[in-house]
Amino acid sequence: MTDLSLYIHIPFCQRKCPYCDFNTYAGCEADYSRFIRALNQDILYEGHTRHHPRVPTLFLGGGTPTILKREQLDIIFEAVDHGFALLPHAEISSEANPGAVDQSRFETLRRLGVNRLSMGVQSFDEDELQFLGRIHSTGDAIRAMTLARKVGFENINLDLMFGMPQQTPAIFQHTLLRAIDLAPEHLSLYNLVVESGTPLATWVAKGQVSEPDPDLAADLYELACELLQQAGYHHYEISNWARGPLQYDGLPHYACHHNLVYWRNQSYLGLGPGAHSSVEPHRWSAVRPVGAYIKSVEEGVSARGYEERISKELAMAETMMLGLRLVEVGVDRQMFQKRFGLDAVDAYADELSSLQDRELVSIDAKRLRLTPRAKLLGNEVFAAFLPE
Ligand code: SF4
Repeated sequence: MTDLSLYIHIPFCQRKCPYCDFNTYAGCEADYSRFIRALNQDILYEGHTRHHPRVPTLFLGGGTPTILKREQLDIIFEAVDHGFALLPHAEISSEANPGAVDQSRFETLRRLGVNRLSMGVQSFDEDELQFLGRIHSTGDAIRAMTLARKVGFENINLDLMFGMPQQTPAIFQHTLLRAIDLAPEHLSLYNLVVESGTPLATWVAKGQVSEPDPDLAADLYELACELLQQAGYHHYEISNWARGPLQYDGLPHYACHHNLVYWRNQSYLGLGPGAHSSVEPHRWSAVRPVGAYIKSVEEGVSARGYEERISKELAMAETMMLGLRLVEVGVDRQMFQKRFGLDAVDAYADELSSLQDRELVSIDAKRLRLTPRAKLLGNEVFAAFLPE
């Protein structure tokens, strides 16, 4: 039986950040119990009908999983234990909002087996946190990190954001240095994107906030690459850095194994409203509204809102696009050959020759990789593989 990574989506936040277009909702406390009952039922159903697959990685995301009560988190993990076979050394991650955690919440997560925390810190500048509408202060982020270490978390990721309209290299450098001081095992850096339909998009359209400047964002990204390298982090994915010695697969010890499943285009099952799944040859996502998801599960009908069959051509293209995001190891030619029955270099001879001429991709006997200058032009490279 194929191993199956699990993603569980908690669609609630204390307050909705104005830039966020994730499937999350604020002010829905009354729905939590009914949602947890439905999620429990969904996890058990999927686990049983798939004959209790082995789970190498579990990721509790959202939203803000730490907004749930201890008993509600207990129900989720019990359902996973009954429905699936978590491997003994499974990576079990939970997202956490530095403004919605305390010692007992962290202790609960540890007791439930969570061994990796991912905290949405975003910035160590108070004005930026206010602009981003975050519920926490820089002091909260430092306190959350200290508490997490105290209760025994040894694998912590911090999310940071860059490219905010008022951000200067000096402000971003301050944020990076504060983050480095806290010595997380992993850092994820996200460029602020103005997503349509968000309050931020309205502010930009009305001229109340200036549009993010892509040239500034590129400079800030380069600054991050430099500072994090000096601090001993491996830049293993376009937006992700991790510490630890390199493993047999060329990736740092603290690389996020759950996200590696996505980047390697392997199978995963997403549970909860709007969660995406991909189990070859299909992929699908659940309906986004929380009420519609709960109703489907309660009535025993499919909660899938969209579904498609992935052709071999598309699976190959996506394996290239996702694999090239892994900047140090890229696409493994042997793995590609094993999965699709042909060498990636033959499958994409024209595309690769043009990318090589532009010095965007390098090829050796084992791997295909982005060149250093292509890290900033990733989307241009990935588009070359999309089927017409
Ligand atoms: S806390 Fe995270 S998931 Fe929730 S609204 Fe803010 S950015 Fe979105």
